[in-house]
Amino acid sequence: IKKLPETLIEIANTLKKNKHQCYIVGGAVRDIAMGKEPDDYDLASSATPEEIKKIFKKVIPTGIQHGTVTILIKRDKYEITTFREEEGYTDLRHPDKIRYTRSLETDLSRRDFTINALALDPITEEIYDLYQGYADIKKKIIKTVGQPDKRFEEDALRILRAIRFAAQLGFTIEKETYKAIKRHSKNIQQISWERIREEFTKVLLSPSPSLGIKLMEETEILQYIIPELLTCKNISQGKAHRFDVYHHLLASCDLVEKKDIIIKLAALFHDIGKPITKIEIPGKGLAFYDHDKESAKIAKKILKRLKYPNSTIEKVTHLIQNHMIKYTEDWTDAAIRRHITRIGKDNLDQLLELLKADRWGITGTKTKVTDIEALRYRINTELNKSNALTIKDLKINGNTLQETLEIPAGPWIGKILKYLMEAVLDDPKLNTKEKLIEIAKKYYKKYN
Ligand code: ATP
Ligand code: MG
Repeated sequence: IKKLPETLIEIANTLKKNKHQCYIVGGAVRDIAMGKEPDDYDLASSATPEEIKKIFKKVIPTGIQHGTVTILIKRDKYEITTFREEEGYTDLRHPDKIRYTRSLETDLSRRDFTINALALDPITEEIYDLYQGYADIKKKIIKTVGQPDKRFEEDALRILRAIRFAAQLGFTIEKETYKAIKRHSKNIQQISWERIREEFTKVLLSPSPSLGIKLMEETEILQYIIPELLTCKNISQGKAHRFDVYHHLLASCDLVEKKDIIIKLAALFHDIGKPITKIEIPGKGLAFYDHDKESAKIAKKILKRLKYPNSTIEKVTHLIQNHMIKYTEDWTDAAIRRHITRIGKDNLDQLLELLKADRWGITGTKTKVTDIEALRYRINTELNKSNALTIKDLKINGNTLQETLEIPAGPWIGKILKYLMEAVLDDPKLNTKEKLIEIAKKYYKKYN
């Protein structure tokens, strides 16, 4: 074991002095057993929240309903949960009752998987492994603590957690656990969309989103979460494509290089409208009519269902709507500027990453993407020129327009600004106050 954080040892020692036990539990022990440095440490103790409050100066009741408090020492924060047992799961998710216990064994027995049921004493560095968790980590298997049917009946979220850990860790789900998941797949409908979203996000940010999504498909839970993905199965795309739409989407999502949920979601849904926009053109073959718009629409519906924040939904659908860019060398600088304006400066990097993932998802391999790199270069060149790229960069604003042209506030001002923007994108030299007023006057005279 590498060195444990000082503050953590301090907490454990303080609890010990007060005749309480304290162990590192959950993901941190799993990480240590796998030779990884944990990002955060969950602690478990025999002390109740009340007792902990008496022992430490700064204690915040962060999850007091399940016995969790946060201890603050200097700048460090540690979550510590009182040993507990649970009973009655009538809603297939939350225990009806939790009860504190002084027994580590009892606490470990309520945990979901053997790989998550190890405890480590931070002072003696002794490991408590009542369910062969260490062996299962070495075997890379996910197996419930105790009877799998019973454990999934208690809490159906564990189904998604099993799949999420499989994708995150590259483990396989043990046979009996897997069979029990299949038997209880329909109970996933009892889980709140917020919790489903949390696990789904972790799958998409894992090293292999496709592994997780295929597991969701095979265990028959995908039909309850995102049935739209299943309709993409067996929809062929002709020509260069190696995969049907479903496998193209999974491959694209896998091949997004950044751990950015916006790009991952955009990659996973960028062609989800293809099944309903497919048309056969006689003599020409397959085509997809406006599939970018339709995909954005369907993606929006899915993301709303999964209760992603509105800002995420907007960014993802914007990327999907703009993913059909086919750059060629003969594009003018003005064309590049118009694309920058439409896509928005802040979204350019994400869009370029999506374009790459889309291309790689055609064959499933990271080929050279010279045209996309060339487009990136052209965009950067334009950005460095400090030409006007948004209406805010124009040397005139709505108020000045109103005053000089003597027109009332209303839709005309917006229309004129848009027109001026187009003119400046075409020819940046037009961006002076005098020239813009001149153009605005002519335009207003002609069309009003
Ligand atoms: P991560 O690296 O994602 O934090 P983790 O294993 O620490 O992984 P948490 O969600 O932080 O996962 O939960 C901490 C521990 O609490 C788990 O390792 C597990 O022992 C237990 N646990 C969490 N959720 C459940 C559940 N639904 N049923 C049973 N035990 C659970
Ligand atoms: Mg954790």
